[in-house]
Amino acid sequence: MIMVFTLNSAAYRYDKALSKKLKNDFSAVILQTKTGENFYERFKKIGAEFPEILIRKDKPSRLAYYVMEENKIYFNSSYITEFFTAKENKDPKIIEILYTRKDAREEFVKFADALYLHELVHALQTKLYPNYRRDIPQGNMIEFEYEAFFTEDMYFHEKMKNNRKLMKDFLDLKYDDPYLSHNMSSYLNLSLDIDNYRGNIRKMYEEGKGDYLSMGRAEEIQKSKLEDSKIIAYASGNVSPYIRKTTGLAIIQMQKEEYERFIDKFYNEFWPAFSFEALLYIGEVALEVKNYPLALNCLATNEETCKENKVKKEDFQKLKTEGAVAILETTGFILDKNEDMDIEILSGHIKALDEACKKTGRLFPKKLKELREKTYKKAIKHYFGKIDEEKDSENIKRYKENIDFFINFK
Ligand SMILES: [Zn+2]
Repeated sequence: MIMVFTLNSAAYRYDKALSKKLKNDFSAVILQTKTGENFYERFKKIGAEFPEILIRKDKPSRLAYYVMEENKIYFNSSYITEFFTAKENKDPKIIEILYTRKDAREEFVKFADALYLHELVHALQTKLYPNYRRDIPQGNMIEFEYEAFFTEDMYFHEKMKNNRKLMKDFLDLKYDDPYLSHNMSSYLNLSLDIDNYRGNIRKMYEEGKGDYLSMGRAEEIQKSKLEDSKIIAYASGNVSPYIRKTTGLAIIQMQKEEYERFIDKFYNEFWPAFSFEALLYIGEVALEVKNYPLALNCLATNEETCKENKVKKEDFQKLKTEGAVAILETTGFILDKNEDMDIEILSGHIKALDEACKKTGRLFPKKLKELREKTYKKAIKHYFGKIDEEKDSENIKRYKENIDFFINFK
């Protein structure tokens, strides 16, 4: 997230000293990954100052944001108190604790690192493409999120690969914190389809947050401003503001093209290997904690879309083996537990199995065919009943998709 203005202007005693420590602590952790290393190299190359880090209370649901005018990254203090116990939770106290207690700081850094990197990406963007922030103050560019999320997800994947236990605990609902669930929601929704991935980001910002717009839209706004000043220039005889704005438009058009070139190259270089590896890893861990729908979805989608010649032979073989194991285990699980499962869970499991078999060209297990028939019929009835009572349009859409699937299964 990028913000333009902030009201948090009062300074606290340990602000600067803590910022310095946090910058060092974050970079030490992040530089242990390839993604982090690549990013820091790019940042250092432009010779800019790393943003200062400030801890301040903020409205709920906002975890962190970057302010270009101040070159500062703000973390919402409301979420930090989870990482240590303290009697007082006012900002100056939280800042002091983080400054004086290494253990508290380490806990915070350990979980906020991926988000910090996301905000650093925005800091770099405003330096590489400054005119977008300067000339179009009414909005943040959605396209900048493509880079920020992808960098964050690649980093998060490396981090979780080194911490299988944390990954398992999260999927097993044994551990959660605001930063981890924020990262997971993007990471677990990974798709092998690159357009889908970007599409989801675009949708999230178009629908959710009013102050975001696309670079194309920003250009249109600049053009119409230009038309206005042309009329004024001709009427008043003063053409210099008009000329200045023409140059401004040319610059943002140039920066737009430059950014498009960059983001395409960036995705082309890292996407194929990353998406394959990440989906295989999530699938494996999901299988371990018996989250079968997630495991089947990740492994089968991966198998369906992965180009065999793009990955190492043994990795592809591993994927196929894991995919087969997932189908076997899910079948056993359903046979064993179907009487204890409620209709949504049961139909969801069978549906995931059905989809995985279709995607990978495997046969649906014979032993489950009768149960499938019976369960789908029951589920159709169940979801029709739910639609009647539901107000939320997203939920209704989901129920309808389910009904559609259960009616049309072959
Ligand atoms: Zn962002």
